[in-house]
Amino acid sequence: MKIFNNTNQLKKTISKYLSSDKTIGFVPTMGALHDGHLKLITTSLKETNITICSIYINPTQFNNLNDLNNYPKNHSEDLNKLKNVGCNIVFIPNNKEMYGNKLESNNYNLGNCLTVLEGQKRPGHFNGMLTIVEKLFSIVSPNKAYFGIKDFQQLWIIKQLLISTSSPIILREIETVRDPSGLALSSRNQHLTKNELISATKIFTALSDFKMHVHMFFSKSTKNLNNNNLKKYINQVKSNLSNDTLIKIDYFEVIDIENFSFAKNLKHNKQYRALIAAYVGETRLIDNILI
Ligand code: AMP
Repeated sequence: MKIFNNTNQLKKTISKYLSSDKTIGFVPTMGALHDGHLKLITTSLKETNITICSIYINPTQFNNLNDLNNYPKNHSEDLNKLKNVGCNIVFIPNNKEMYGNKLESNNYNLGNCLTVLEGQKRPGHFNGMLTIVEKLFSIVSPNKAYFGIKDFQQLWIIKQLLISTSSPIILREIETVRDPSGLALSSRNQHLTKNELISATKIFTALSDFKMHVHMFFSKSTKNLNNNNLKKYINQVKSNLSNDTLIKIDYFEVIDIENFSFAKNLKHNKQYRALIAAYVGETRLIDNILI
């Protein structure tokens, strides 16, 4: 496995692969790797000739300095995990390499999807994320880029970026890897205490319960699920989840995945996603489920 810190050296190596018609798969991460990240890597290894993983904690996508400073970091463990699965190249740049002397994001205009939910709760987050993703794409020139459905809004926004720039990069959406309790794997889970870990599993239970309510409704009725009933089901799962004193819900919303608008009533045979963000103790977690 080759490790690069320097952009120009990485680009030189990549251009050799590209000129010999090798396909490149790219997995951008912020490190503290778990089996979710490794699923992206192993899928890329199956589908492309050369898999490149980047590890970079991008400061411009953090709207909270504490969150940035406390973000888990363990490069030596990450490198072992990547070596074990057979990753070909790891890129670990520093801030200077990615931003020069100006640690600034670009401003993107991709519509509503940038300003609701995570965009509203974490101002500047998506501009920072898109800035670094564009920089990394231009360095790596991947044929395919691998992102997790766990960060559904991020994935949706990257899809809009690729469409709006007529990019040839193929976006591969990878299903969320969960632990046996259903908890979505996340680098931030490392912050949870034993009790908080137990509480955190209730997030996926809430999503699953909500899905069950909707499916039960549709199994009995040919009508749409109207806004009142939708609100009733949402409030029911929110209230169950709030019974746990360690949990504070930041949002629980259902979106129409065609246009990322808030769903008002749910139709048969259409796809929606329920998205949740919740604090478990001090740690903010996100998850989602296909409805
Ligand atoms: P991060 O290091 O958190 O920026 O995540 C890097 C990539 O891994 C993103 O595309 C995430 O959506 C994806 N990812 C994070 N957690 C999971 C998970 N539990 N299952 C699948 N993919 C994930």
